[in-house]
Amino acid sequence: MTGPDRGAPPAPSLEVKGLAYAYPDGTQALYGVDLTVARGERVALLGPNGAGKTTLVLHLNGILHGGLGEVRVGGLAVDPGDRKSLREIRRRVGIVFQDPDDQLFMPTVREDVAFGPANLGLRGAELDRRVRDALSRVGMLDAADRPPQHLSFGQRRRVAVATVLAMEPEILVLDEPSSNLDPASRRELAEILLSLDVTVLMVTHDLPYAAELCPRSVILSGGVVAADRPTRDLLMDAELLAAHRLELPFGFDPSAAVR
Ligand code: ADP
Repeated sequence: MTGPDRGAPPAPSLEVKGLAYAYPDGTQALYGVDLTVARGERVALLGPNGAGKTTLVLHLNGILHGGLGEVRVGGLAVDPGDRKSLREIRRRVGIVFQDPDDQLFMPTVREDVAFGPANLGLRGAELDRRVRDALSRVGMLDAADRPPQHLSFGQRRRVAVATVLAMEPEILVLDEPSSNLDPASRRELAEILLSLDVTVLMVTHDLPYAAELCPRSVILSGGVVAADRPTRDLLMDAELLAAHRLELPFGFDPSAAVR
């Protein structure tokens, strides 16, 4: 890969073109998905159960492959046949899974956050800087020496975000980031996510959270992109929401949403 031209606009963080995929049992999950996310954008990925959201996310770092179409991350093609580039893709795509306990397995928070960058070969002061920086960004530096299992669920989710930030990813992919959080933890995480200078793709059923965090939303439904619009505009389209089994909480007024 050649370096980017000086002065040329950066490649989009994510480019998905014509992505189609059927599982080995024949279930067609994606039917030609196109999605471009520019560097620095925050995009919500909405859609009913079974829409293909997880299938799409699992293509972003090459866990699933073998269908049609292509995925590029910061200009680099996801090529599951090329182990070296796949390693770089997995650094660039930081997926925060719904259950933080799938991501935290070391005796201390510090070791969990250091795990990824240490695997990249970082050591000493540079590794320490990465860990401190990632933990500071999620407000968890004070917990560096604690065992993750002694933290609250909301704190563990923030540490899970830090494990991914420590890789300095091109795009942060969050799977239901507000699930199982109490209102204070939900708000704290929103403030943290808003403060990060990183591209975000957020899979969520929490439409107010999408409105608060993501200026743009995409509805995936039946394996295709059914809408791609400013979030506020999309959430005000009652017919569109109903057609894709999306529901605003009672009393929520999308026209008053900040973004
Ligand atoms: P979402 O994340 O939007 O709920 P998924 O990507 O999980 O949707 O699922 C998309 C479609 O693929 C659904 O029809 C689902 O039943 C099917 N599917 C998901 N995982 C598998 C699998 N391992 N084998 C076969 N079909 C699957």
